[in-house]
Amino acid sequence: MQQKKILILMSNTGGGHRASAEALKVGFAQCFGDRFRVDIIDLLMDYLPIPLNQLPKSYSFLANDATWLWKLLWESGDYPGLLQFLGEIVPRITEKSVRRVFRQFAPDLIISVHPLVHEIALRPLARMGRRIPFVTVVTDLASIHPLWLHPAVDACYVASDEAYQRALEAGLQPTQLHLFGLPVRPAFATPARPKAILRQELGMHPTLPAALVVGGGEGIGPVAEIAQQIARRLVSRGRAQGQLVVICGSNQRLREKLTDQVWPIPTVINGFVDNMPEWMAACDCIITKAGPGTIAEALSRGLPIVLSGFIPGQEEGNVPYVVNNQVGVHCEDPAAIARIVQRWFGPDQALLQKMARNARQLGHPQATFQIVESIAKLLNVSMVMDEQPEIRKALS
Ligand code: UDP
Repeated sequence: MQQKKILILMSNTGGGHRASAEALKVGFAQCFGDRFRVDIIDLLMDYLPIPLNQLPKSYSFLANDATWLWKLLWESGDYPGLLQFLGEIVPRITEKSVRRVFRQFAPDLIISVHPLVHEIALRPLARMGRRIPFVTVVTDLASIHPLWLHPAVDACYVASDEAYQRALEAGLQPTQLHLFGLPVRPAFATPARPKAILRQELGMHPTLPAALVVGGGEGIGPVAEIAQQIARRLVSRGRAQGQLVVICGSNQRLREKLTDQVWPIPTVINGFVDNMPEWMAACDCIITKAGPGTIAEALSRGLPIVLSGFIPGQEEGNVPYVVNNQVGVHCEDPAAIARIVQRWFGPDQALLQKMARNARQLGHPQATFQIVESIAKLLNVSMVMDEQPEIRKALS
């Protein structure tokens, strides 16, 4: 059978879009072997003309240091003026560059995992006169920006009931919409190895309950303060009542600062890790900002969540999603977070276990397989039954 070409359009604003794009690529390879060739490109930064290609660089600053401005920009998407600008002017400026991309990759199908690429990709595509299926995989959980929801797509994959409802309101038809979950790395769909073995391999204490503190791919937010408060709280009469794992992501300075400290309980400090499924499986709860990727992964591993903050706009809706589904709590004060963890590891253990069960039920570790299977059908490619028995079993 001739290999089909899939082009995934993303941009590196935060870690989530790339993580989802990579998850889909691995999902295609695991489900279909070499029947698909999948290319992932940063359409905005690597292919658009100046100054538009500089915009993604301002994301980190806006989302972390100028949150009020980010919120303003995010909410301006609700106003027709900006949407009209994006829909009319930007595609005109970028059309030549985008046509070149499509000629270079000659895809049989295009997947967008970024809300800013729809208009600039769909217009030239229509004008080129080639009918190439175009699908959206929404990489946000509950807060969906209107720019995600383009009615001209062949299929749109969303991750929550809230997002599905929002898509219907935006004019997408039920026939276009699929609700499977966020595409997390396929490794999250594999049952975890026993905690004792993982902990030994990862250099953790074998039995003490473990709190995992993370700050997204870039290690942002008050990660250090939270870790210090938890470590202090989890000591009683000189004895450790728990242990700590801190993942600093790409934040090298944070990693150095925490590594230089003396910790009163068993503590492991990491930089960027590429085995998050194992760290999550080895711990008993997670403290994180409301990043959709981390939340979806934590649910897959049955980890109760303390949300220590959120980026205004795109992560805001994830807070009620976690709290209302009783898989965690929202608390931004490091000292109060430490008290919550202390109770979860002490008198409130039953509550922790109940939230862990809720999390397992709410998680969609198979979402990546379901999404790639559904996308492949648009190109009339089906999974060969006896080729992938493990995945088949997971999907059934
Ligand atoms: N991540 C990782 N290694 C690290 C830190 C983070 O693989 O050391 C991954 C994490 O598992 C998740 C993504 O980075 O898949 C972070 O996505 P999220 O949506 O939570 O936050 P963002 O970084 O996009 O703001």
